[in-house]
Amino acid sequence: MSDTIETFLEESRVFEPSAEFKAAANASDPNIYEKAEADPEGWWVSWAETLDWSQKWHTVLEWNQPFAKWFVGGKLNACYNCVDRHVVSGKGDKIALIGEGEPGDVRNFTYSQVKDRVSQIANGLKAIGIGKGDIVAVYMPMGPELAMTMLACARIGAPHTVIFGGFTAESIADRANNCGAKAIVTSDGTWRRGKIVELKRIVDEAMELGCSTVDKVLVFDRVGKPGTMTSGMATPDYNAGTWVDGRDVKAADVCDTASTDCPCEEMDAEDLLFILYTSGSTGKPKGIMHTTGGYLTGTTATTKLVFDMKDEDIYWCTADCGWVTGHSYIVYGPMSNGCTQVMYEGAPDAQGKDRFWKIIEKHKVSILYTAPTAIRTFMKWGEDLPNGCDLSSLRLLGSVGEPINPEAWMWYHRVIGRERCPIVDTWWQTETGGIMVTPLPGIVSTKPGSATRPFPGVGATIYDEDGNDIGADSDGEVGGLLVLKRPWPSMLRGIWGDEDRYRDVYWSKFSDAYFAGDGAKRDADGFFWLLGRVDDIMLVSGHNISTMEVESALVDHPAVAEAAVIGKQHEVKGQAIAAFVIIKQGFEPSDELRQEIRMHVGQKIGPVARPDDLIFTADVPKTRSGKIMRRLLRDIAEGRLLGDTTTLADPNVVASLQAEHDKES
Ligand code: ATP
Ligand code: MG
Repeated sequence: MSDTIETFLEESRVFEPSAEFKAAANASDPNIYEKAEADPEGWWVSWAETLDWSQKWHTVLEWNQPFAKWFVGGKLNACYNCVDRHVVSGKGDKIALIGEGEPGDVRNFTYSQVKDRVSQIANGLKAIGIGKGDIVAVYMPMGPELAMTMLACARIGAPHTVIFGGFTAESIADRANNCGAKAIVTSDGTWRRGKIVELKRIVDEAMELGCSTVDKVLVFDRVGKPGTMTSGMATPDYNAGTWVDGRDVKAADVCDTASTDCPCEEMDAEDLLFILYTSGSTGKPKGIMHTTGGYLTGTTATTKLVFDMKDEDIYWCTADCGWVTGHSYIVYGPMSNGCTQVMYEGAPDAQGKDRFWKIIEKHKVSILYTAPTAIRTFMKWGEDLPNGCDLSSLRLLGSVGEPINPEAWMWYHRVIGRERCPIVDTWWQTETGGIMVTPLPGIVSTKPGSATRPFPGVGATIYDEDGNDIGADSDGEVGGLLVLKRPWPSMLRGIWGDEDRYRDVYWSKFSDAYFAGDGAKRDADGFFWLLGRVDDIMLVSGHNISTMEVESALVDHPAVAEAAVIGKQHEVKGQAIAAFVIIKQGFEPSDELRQEIRMHVGQKIGPVARPDDLIFTADVPKTRSGKIMRRLLRDIAEGRLLGDTTTLADPNVVASLQAEHDKES
């Protein structure tokens, strides 16, 4: 691509937090930004000091680009900070986890109960031979046991690698082999859309494919335990896999009977806390490494300030613990802050398409953190569903995972937030560990579609191809590449087993900054607007055009629920824009509608961005975390063999798109 990205979309609506919200906000001093900027290390130290350390660090930061060490010499335990210290400080009876299963069973755990159960699981792990430094793969249903298993690993100093419960046997084997996992923790199954996903059977398959380092498989009961976990539901019919004596161990045998006493291992600030593989939107997943002290510092600070987390809040992050969002903003950040939160096992449309709104009503959720892909789906389903529920407990809304189109932002604001709740659009990555660009909801007025400002202390800015800072005075007219100019505590410490890839992906493009791989622009108020992945930027007749802006213009049309655009090879233009469009319920695809939508984009952002092809489709390929995989759409449009598809949510979508495309061309 040439130097910069041209930008077209203008958005001038501004929303201020209410006076009431401002007055009570955890972050209310606008000077917080300048103070942190003047002394970033001092700022992060002030957050590290809110944690419990068994030994204080002697050096705040050792920075040998691209390798950072934070709080060097410090010792602490992440599980102690997320669990025990709340019990010690008298909050043992506070509810930590409200686990709602898909069938409707609800189980609550107080911090004291979490401490006991985590200790039992940790003792169970020890009993199967896991010790400090051993890597444990976790393939479990979304729910309290998953969070508690992660914490149990942290308690004994065994790094976890959580594999999302929707992944295949092949993905499990890939990841377990890549990091040399010594055990896999799983469950008999999990509920998804009223059916059972047979997790243990899938682990058996992975073992058959070959996981040479795995000696033990620890199995929790979820679906097959009558009376307790499924609240008296009949034990359903499912394939529980094949029990292999000596390899397979029941959690009921080694954890349920174990002592509730298990000391926390004293860990170095820089000891590995976990490895997590990225979503795979752009290619083969990378095993991202996070360590203990810096990661916990970053996630604790951002949870408290971005979500304005208070003692009385009921928080709900709808992500799965299989993603980084579940690590940082279900387990570590929120629990370090001692919060009460909901964990939901199943699908958003299980027992009705209003399941999310029912959960909010039932548990009186006050903070909701979800993804644009979910919001666009809810828009497609219509506003009668949320309107039929009492959402008055909500006071703050969050978004993560993809750029949020202004139209989706407005819907979230109006229909879910009832024009009362600030929205925090949070930009970050598996690699950054914590939120990097985001509003502080009591300080920053928001604009639909903008992630607003770097979190205090974060050195985010925008470079052109040559590494010149274009953010400061471009006034939003050009976009460039989002970079982070200084190390931050929760940054990745590398890619497991692949130092070259670590240097190459993030540190080779610019000599003095971390390259995030995303495009962004900055407006006259210093607000950041994410433009999508740099790999997806389209070069049309000499103009660099972002996928985000064209998709947002498409979604702005009343008939369009969701859109994915790509640049397709074109002899004259270089690339031509092809749009894959999903329409809302109540609209019919037709040639007139196609023309109307194309014209709408032309009017909204200019003729150069008007798609050449507009294909109506029922779905677009997404990762299991719901992100659009544009690279596969490009492969289809250009008739290539498909790239890595292992992280694809639904392979049928690509197959049918491919068939449609072949039919047309
Ligand atoms: P891979 O790196 O394997 O291709 P991935 O980038 O999808 O996978 P994640 O770390 O889960 O894996 O996602 C981070 C990416 O998600 C960001 O780089 C960005 O592209 C996108 N993203 C996340 N939050 C936002 C947001 N609020 N606004 C815009 N984009 C976002
Ligand atoms: Mg990425």
